[in-house]
Amino acid sequence: MKIIYHERFLTPYPTAGVEKPQRLKTIYQVIKDHGEIVTPVPAQPEDLLLVHTPRLLKSMASQADVHEVALLAVGGAILTASLALAGEPAFGLLRPPGHHAGPDSHWGFCFYNNMAIAIERLRRQGRIQRALILDIDLHFGDGTDRIFAAVPEVEVVNIEAATREQFLFAVKNTLQVSRQLDIIGVSAGFDTYVKDWGGLLQTEDYRQIGAWVKEAAQRDCQGRRFGLLEGGYYLPDLGKNCLAFLTGLA
Ligand SMILES: [Zn+2]
Repeated sequence: MKIIYHERFLTPYPTAGVEKPQRLKTIYQVIKDHGEIVTPVPAQPEDLLLVHTPRLLKSMASQADVHEVALLAVGGAILTASLALAGEPAFGLLRPPGHHAGPDSHWGFCFYNNMAIAIERLRRQGRIQRALILDIDLHFGDGTDRIFAAVPEVEVVNIEAATREQFLFAVKNTLQVSRQLDIIGVSAGFDTYVKDWGGLLQTEDYRQIGAWVKEAAQRDCQGRRFGLLEGGYYLPDLGKNCLAFLTGLA
């Protein structure tokens, strides 16, 4: 397992109070010995323009402190997806998150869509044709959904459920369908946790979800799979939930 991380993700920048650098710090402490740490480089403007408008880039460029970290997070996503494509499962421990960033707008602590850029870049380079993006964050990944709305080769599945059982059933159901695929990316939010905002999942459920993703990837796309951090705000258990997911995925 490769873990993509950079200390600069801990840089404080203006955002909502809950999306604090300690989120990454606490996860890093728990997972760092469970994979090989790989350091990313910032993304280039042409990477961002694969899914975002020049207007969005311009508005982001005027917020220098956020922009620098956001570019590094996108670079981290690109590296995570490429490592997964090369055959090793990978997890991007990234900040800021990305799934609420659409073509021309962003909200919800997101600035650029890390997942969408990583997948679209592989597609445009001809390295993949088809991808499945599974979003297990508590919140609907509206940005990713809009970016790929007219792209049938990229299937975006958002899991939405009112109970733990329904959530797990929906994930299992999605992943047990065999597809023509080249890679699976998981928008991994841990705010579905029973003590977090969602109040749904137990720690062991993240391991189970990771294991289902692995099974589906081995069946459909030569095992190519990766996850990128999205939400998750209950600091005391964030690290162990993320580790459970990685244990299943590895
Ligand atoms: Zn969320």
